[in-house]
Amino acid sequence: MRERKIVRASRPSTDRNQAPSKPSARTGRRPMETNRNKERGPVRNSNRGGGMPESNRKTPRRPIFQRLSPVSGTASEAGDTLKFFALGGLEEIGRNMSVFEYKDEIIIFDAGIQFPEEDTPGIDYIIPNTEYLEANKHKIKALIVTHAHYDHIGAIPYIMGKIGNPTLYTTALAKEMIKKRQDEFTNAPKIDFEVIKNHDVVKISDNFELTFFGVIHSIPDTVSVLIKNPVGNFVYSTDVKFDYDEKGNAMGLDEFAWAGKQNIHTLFLESTGAEVQGISPSESLVIKNLEDIFKKTKGRLIIGTFASMLNRLAEIIKVAEKYDRKVFISGLSMKTNLQIAQNLGYVKIKKGTIVPLD
Ligand SMILES: [Zn+2]
Repeated sequence: MRERKIVRASRPSTDRNQAPSKPSARTGRRPMETNRNKERGPVRNSNRGGGMPESNRKTPRRPIFQRLSPVSGTASEAGDTLKFFALGGLEEIGRNMSVFEYKDEIIIFDAGIQFPEEDTPGIDYIIPNTEYLEANKHKIKALIVTHAHYDHIGAIPYIMGKIGNPTLYTTALAKEMIKKRQDEFTNAPKIDFEVIKNHDVVKISDNFELTFFGVIHSIPDTVSVLIKNPVGNFVYSTDVKFDYDEKGNAMGLDEFAWAGKQNIHTLFLESTGAEVQGISPSESLVIKNLEDIFKKTKGRLIIGTFASMLNRLAEIIKVAEKYDRKVFISGLSMKTNLQIAQNLGYVKIKKGTIVPLD
């Protein structure tokens, strides 16, 4: 990721500049990305290791493929190993897709897009290379979507049909956002959704039992997953931010503390900036600074943000209401996302706050 920062300095990233806001009223947790309006257009199945020219990387990218043997007990028979590989999203921003394979069963986490690189002119976005999954689609038991950011859901309409349209397990907000997007792809197959809630336990197959737990991110309804498998217990964590409240108390660690007691063989965790030491400034500081701007500004205020940073959008609206401002929302994704979040109760807006442009 560090090397990405250098290469991508010329354009906005997905996760990099984003921070979560207050915990969702519903889940008590807070659970990001750009929503370019230009969502359609040429898509490329990237065959490159990481979507970036090798020459630009400090270290060459290699596929991550690990055989995980049981922690204890009898020596594993040949084949009795859990395999993990990522088709995107590791040490890079975008096109998140990770795969666990055990015997003849496969479960997949996320199916996101990546925004183009300097060396991909004419490409709107890049999706993971799913050739292996297509060839083994009979083994796929589930696609699990950890949250509604485009680098986790954006490739779904392109790949679901190719990988046999497996059951899609996700949270309520992600389901609505995936469904909304699916409307634009009339030839894509109808998705078989299973909506999961915090601490739901779902037996996906003989060899995979999943427990979902909420984590803090810049969009509500974000989950990480405890995976129980004959090889051992694993945690697959999605993007997270450990934020601190005004008093300096860490938020959202309790769920990881819970997971930590589950006799975990291996934790899989990759999040933007994960390798950088230290802590990010708290979201409360962002809101405080916004408030200062609201207080000082006499005339019209124009605020730019990512349409998927729902928590921050909610905070901006709250601050606007506090300072008796009207809000005009510009942009289709911005409007749609806000509407979905409002319908699900994640964003509360007073009547009359939002006004049409005219
Ligand atoms: Zn995210």
